[in-house]
Amino acid sequence: MYYNDKTVIFYNGQFVKANNASMGLYNQTLHYGNGVFEGIRAYATEQGTRIFKPQAHFERLQFGAEVMGIEFKYSVEELTAITYELLQKNNLSNAYIRPLVISGVNMGVFSAKDSDLVIQCWEWGKLMGSKLLRVKTSTFQRPNPKSCVVEAKVTGHYINSILASNEAKKEGFDEALLLDMNDNVAECSGANIFMEKDGKLITPPKGHIMAGITRTTIIELCQQEGIEVVERDFKIEELKTADSAFFTGTAAEVVGLASIDSYTFPQIWEQSLGYRLMKLYKQEVLGLRNKRAVY
Ligand code: PMP
Repeated sequence: MYYNDKTVIFYNGQFVKANNASMGLYNQTLHYGNGVFEGIRAYATEQGTRIFKPQAHFERLQFGAEVMGIEFKYSVEELTAITYELLQKNNLSNAYIRPLVISGVNMGVFSAKDSDLVIQCWEWGKLMGSKLLRVKTSTFQRPNPKSCVVEAKVTGHYINSILASNEAKKEGFDEALLLDMNDNVAECSGANIFMEKDGKLITPPKGHIMAGITRTTIIELCQQEGIEVVERDFKIEELKTADSAFFTGTAAEVVGLASIDSYTFPQIWEQSLGYRLMKLYKQEVLGLRNKRAVY
């Protein structure tokens, strides 16, 4: 599904066949989860293939490498150019792009001296599908921001997401919603959350969440459209009084929630702000809206 005989990846400074690439077994990413990655999308637009917000994504990758002490020398411009070339080599326009910075060899628990960059891409539908999601409040919390840098997209952090998703799926739900260490609503395993109440949106502030690039895009769209968005903490009990709610993320895009635990969101999805923003987001990524947004 992710690759076949023809798939080309960028690895170790060159374009190679995915089937021919190999990796050592002594690197620190494999053993301790010290790697950083990104999830980016490209879209087929009227002007050709367009990577959405490459600068924001590659800057987050650089930030992650820096805070984790991983050597990483590529500039945003180089990364963007390599990614466009990779898409072309794979004949892809609508694609999910996965850069990963793999740490070098080191069995100690301090950063390795060197790293390898791999960029992979494949065709991928909306991560969580298009159906409204039945969501469970996870018994797992998001990590304490004093235990790691939550805004860095570090491979090891995703153990927390996997535990939460596994638990939710095992109990028959589609997805997990995680609270933070103070019992405030934080985010989904791989997406941010917004709730709608009385015609305005509320979303958790930065601090205990991944500051999603899609979250920022949604806030920008709201500003352009005159939709009020408040960034503040709220508890799960308050979410269970909301009219509707939705998740946002690069892979998930915008997806509505049917329910949280046994609470069903009462608003008809097609009449919600989430639905309107889902449509606006699609136009935005396709470059069909006005150019007020900054990339
Ligand atoms: N939260 C988590 C935990 C994530 O993994 C992601 C995906 N990167 C997001 C939120 C959404 O971030 P973005 O909109 O930048 O993809």
